[in-house]
Amino acid sequence: MKKIKSPYQRVKEWRERNPDKIKAQRTVFVNLRNGKLKKAKCLCGKRKVEAHHEDYFKPLDVIWLCKGCHIEADKNRRARFSTVLLDTVL
Ligand SMILES: [Zn+2]
Repeated sequence: MKKIKSPYQRVKEWRERNPDKIKAQRTVFVNLRNGKLKKAKCLCGKRKVEAHHEDYFKPLDVIWLCKGCHIEADKNRRARFSTVLLDTVL
């Protein structure tokens, strides 16, 4: 029988799988608070935005997107990122 994971456990596992993402989000949060980073409107004009990263290794390279555009951008990046990773030596 499969064990059902608690939401807490899911978040914990997600964090362990995505340390670069966590780090990038934290950097954005800190820099928003100290004023080094400013939110901007989404490309579609919406004002309620979230930080989108094209590259988590450049945490301050942020594109401000609304929820809908963010989901689309993440899909596109995932497609691109898998090819980028292949020829990037970290
Ligand atoms: Zn948008």
